Amino acid sequence: RAKQDPARGVSYYEPGMDEAARARRELVLELRRALERHEFDLHYQVQTSLGATGPRAAGCRLDYEFGPTEILGYEALLRWRHPVRGQVAPVEFIPLAEESGLIIPIGEWVLRKACRDAAAWRQPHCVAVNISALQITHGDLPRLVAQVLEETGLAPQRLELEVTETLIIEDREKCLAALTAIRALGVTVALDDFGTGYSSLDTLRAFPFNRIKLDRSFMRDIAASPEALAILRAVLALGRSLDMRVLAEGVETIEQLCLLQAEDCREAQGYLFGRPAPLQAKADDTPAEPAGLTLPPLS
Ligand code: C2E
Ligand code: MG
Ligand code: MG
Ligand code: MG
Repeated sequence: RAKQDPARGVSYYEPGMDEAARARRELVLELRRALERHEFDLHYQVQTSLGATGPRAAGCRLDYEFGPTEILGYEALLRWRHPVRGQVAPVEFIPLAEESGLIIPIGEWVLRKACRDAAAWRQPHCVAVNISALQITHGDLPRLVAQVLEETGLAPQRLELEVTETLIIEDREKCLAALTAIRALGVTVALDDFGTGYSSLDTLRAFPFNRIKLDRSFMRDIAASPEALAILRAVLALGRSLDMRVLAEGVETIEQLCLLQAEDCREAQGYLFGRPAPLQAKADDTPAEPAGLTLPPLS
């Protein structure tokens, strides 16, 4: 592919560009084969409540009285184990899957696998599944969701779909209709990575979200940045007045947890509570279960 040099008005070839394009094409071909070769897997990361019954951080000391009721659910996160490259990160292959359209069959596999997994868990925890724009704009997502729920026997209330705002920008009408139909099935919908990209208050007003997931970039800065704290407060207030739950993403430290509790944030997710991990079967005849809360020991 040629690039235009505005200064000279002629096309030239950037060194390395062919190489990069070839590498991408190759990765797309491999992505295409990955499904049939069973190279995908799901990891699950715990989502937890911080309410009166959840973990309390008193004076920045955690009270380790946990019960199953404090776990809200688990987010399913796609993993690709490439036979030669090893684990490929979602940030590397999800955009390629989206550009190539492969996210449609891959996303269908994710939805089916997550629902089948969750239906076998002993505790009826929720499962959250990430959905790409293309799955809504170029498919019949409500029909697929209904079909997968029926197939797997998972109660609709236990499924949550996570969408980002780029999705809504693409095709607002179709997206609104699809999310409304999905809500009518009893499935909940979360707005992922809120506060990045094209966040607009109009989206919050017009779309039937049950939950707002505040992007983890705000957590990263929260202790040092008054602006990040101000945004957390504003989003919590918005959530309360719009009747949407607010979950803080990317909670890594007890200090961040203390801050969230001081602000009366009720839901969180992050390495502090548990990293994404594969399901594990305790014995051969028991269904594979998610890891649960894996907080570090108190020192
Ligand atoms: P996301 O939906 O916002 O998922 C959360 C990401 O943050 C995950 O990265 C998770 O591992 C990471 N994370 C969780 N807690 C922490 C923390 O405390 N600190 C830090 N630094 N990171 C944390 P992951 O698994 O690499 O996934 C990246 C993104 O790829 C996801 O962001 C999502 O947008 C996309 N993705 C993953 N699985 C799927 C899928 O099945 N379908 C689609 N369409 N997208 C997916
Ligand atoms: Mg997500
Ligand atoms: Mg997110
Ligand atoms: Mg993200």
